[in-house]
Amino acid sequence: MSDPKPTFVPVTQPFLPPLDEFRPYLEEIWDRKWVTNNGVFHQQLEEQLCDYLGVEHLSLFSNGTLALITALQALKITGEVITTPFSFVATTHALHWNGIKPVFADIDPVSLNLDPEKIEAAITPQTTALLPVHVYANPCDVERIESIADTYGLRVIYDAAHAFGVRINDRSVLHYGDMSVLSFHGTKVFNTFEGGAIVCRDAKTKRRIDNLKNFGFVDETTVVAPGINGKMNEVQAAFGLLQLKHMDEVNAQRARIDARYRDALRNLHGIAMHDVPVHCTRNFAYFPILVTPEFPVSRDDLYNELREKHIAARRYFYPLISEFPMYRGLPSAGPHNLPVATAISRQVLCLPIFPALDDADQERVIETILSCAWRKRRAS
Ligand SMILES: *Cc1c(COP(=O)(O)O)cnc(C)c1O
Repeated sequence: MSDPKPTFVPVTQPFLPPLDEFRPYLEEIWDRKWVTNNGVFHQQLEEQLCDYLGVEHLSLFSNGTLALITALQALKITGEVITTPFSFVATTHALHWNGIKPVFADIDPVSLNLDPEKIEAAITPQTTALLPVHVYANPCDVERIESIADTYGLRVIYDAAHAFGVRINDRSVLHYGDMSVLSFHGTKVFNTFEGGAIVCRDAKTKRRIDNLKNFGFVDETTVVAPGINGKMNEVQAAFGLLQLKHMDEVNAQRARIDARYRDALRNLHGIAMHDVPVHCTRNFAYFPILVTPEFPVSRDDLYNELREKHIAARRYFYPLISEFPMYRGLPSAGPHNLPVATAISRQVLCLPIFPALDDADQERVIETILSCAWRKRRAS
C-alpha cells in the first residue's frame, strides 16, 4: 500500500493568530524599551481581561503555578488544605511549595470535581482552606463549597486553570471563593505561551498580590514580604491582547468540534460523555470521554489504537496526583479513600480538540473509536 503517512493529530495546539498581526505589538515594545515590570501591555491586559471575564480585580503572572503558590501565600494559608487528586500535578505541588499538608478527598462521579460530602468528612482542626479545581472547565458545586467554608471558617482558593470564560447563571465562575487562579499556558483555551492570573475580591488584596509577585517590593526601597518573581513580561502580555481579539473565533471553532464529537459518539455503548449543566456557559477546553467496562476495548487499548493511527489522545488525569511518589505516602492518598477518582482515572481519555483541528482529522479520531467498538464486538 502506498498511502501517504497520515498527518499527526496532537491532542491540543495553541491558537496562534497570523504573525503579521503580532508585529505592531513587538514594534511598540521595541520603541518603548520597557519589557517587563508592570508595563503598558501588562496594564492593558489586566484591564481587558477584567472586562472580558466580568471580574474586578485580576493580577497577571508569568505562569499559573506561580499564581497558585502566590495565592496561598497572600492568604497566609498553613496547616492542612483539602484538595482533589483528579487534577494536574501543579495543584498539589503549590501546597507542597508552601509547606502545607495536602489532604485528598474523593470526587463526584458526575462532575468529576471534589465531592462536597467528602470535603466535609476530611475536615480536621488543622484544616485552614479548600483548593478545589473546576476540572475540564466544569464548575464545582460552588454554593455547597461556600456554605461548608462559611460553616467551618475556611478559605477557598479555586484552581480555575481550565475555566477561562466560564459563567454560572451568567456570572463568572471566578467570583466564587476568596481567590481563583487561571493558567494561560499554551495548552489552555486562552494562552500567552506561558502565563496565569489571580482573580481576587478587592483592590487591597490585589495590591498585596502585586507586591508578592515582585519580590515583596512596595516602593523603591521597601520590601514587606518574602515575595517571588511572578511577573508577566510585555511580550506575553502583548500576545494576550492580540489573542483576546480572536476569542469569539476560537470559541466558535471549539464549539463546532465539541458538537461533532457529541453527535458521533452519542449512544455509543460503553462510552460516556460529560454533560455540563444548562445554566453554565462552556469553553470547550477539553473533550473527555469515559471508556467504561461496557466498551469492548479498554481505555489503554483505545489510547494505543489511536496512537497507532498517529492520533494523540491523553489520559488526563492519570495517574492521580495522590499516586505520585511524593504524595502517595499521605494518609489520604490511598485508593480506598479515593475510589471514584481511582476508577475514573482508569477510564478517562481526552480527545483532540483545538481551533485548527480540521474535519478530516476529527473524522479519523471518530472512525478509530467507532471501528474499535465494532470490530472487537464482532470478535467477542
Ligand atoms: C495548567 C494547569 C496548572 C498549571 O498552570 P501553568 O500555567 O502551566 O503553570 C495548574 N492546574 C491545572 C488544573 C492546570 O490544568
